[in-house]
Amino acid sequence: ETEIPTDHPRYQDLLTRHRIEAGVEKGITHLQGMHAEGRGSAFDYLLGEETIPSADDAERAAAAQLLLADHPVISVNGNVAALVPGEVVDLASTVNAAIEINLFNRTPERMERIADHLRDHGAEDVLGLDADARIPELDHERSKVDAEGIYEADVVVVPLEDGDRAEALSEMGKTEIVVDLNPLSRSPQVAAIPIVDNIIRAFPNTTEHARALADADDATLREIVDSFDRAEALAAAEDRIRSGDLAGE
Ligand code: ATP
Ligand code: MG
Repeated sequence: ETEIPTDHPRYQDLLTRHRIEAGVEKGITHLQGMHAEGRGSAFDYLLGEETIPSADDAERAAAAQLLLADHPVISVNGNVAALVPGEVVDLASTVNAAIEINLFNRTPERMERIADHLRDHGAEDVLGLDADARIPELDHERSKVDAEGIYEADVVVVPLEDGDRAEALSEMGKTEIVVDLNPLSRSPQVAAIPIVDNIIRAFPNTTEHARALADADDATLREIVDSFDRAEALAAAEDRIRSGDLAGE
């Protein structure tokens, strides 16, 4: 899909950037998604572009929380669709979660294009197009959700989410799993389980943990969730970023 040499030292980062550009060209990613990507990329550089141990713990806790959930939903925006469409489908099928498109800049065209893109990657049901319920306390376009999707969900995975929506969802009582490379951003700050990792690593690793935990009983899963310390995970990520102690350099 690209002409980036695989031995380039920043191969993954360039690939990610290219996927966002392609997403913009295909009409699935908003131009503002490129700015979000640029911010994420800077934090990922400071994290050493690897899954740090506290992020791996968060991903395992997220897998356990999703397996315990009655009605888990994975929220997908234009960046997520461009970066990890197949990985969204894998995670959803592994933990039996619904997939719902939810856009900051919502247009019917982008909604349809993203739904098609996800279906091309194996998604069966894609929610978000009905928009027959509202998240309280948010402005009109951003509050739209599906009644049988995010509105009803007990556990929601919200990658690369803006702070207002993350706060509103947590006020609705949802258990939020946030994937965000910036540990200081409001979204991870309000999450029950903040995953400070690049989504291109976070989703496959969470799926891997979910597969390993597939036969675990509820008490074991509950123990994994309860022993996860959200404040400690956020502090560990911030420490790594501030230390400038880049892995492998
Ligand atoms: P706000 O303070 O309103 O949340 P923001 O600067 O966090 O603003 P947003 O567009 O709301 O900007 O959020 C984008 C977030 O997604 C940023 O925190 C960025 O670090 C993060 N991000 C971008 N790309 C990735 C990625 N590939 N994986 C994980 N996180 C990412
Ligand atoms: Mg943010």
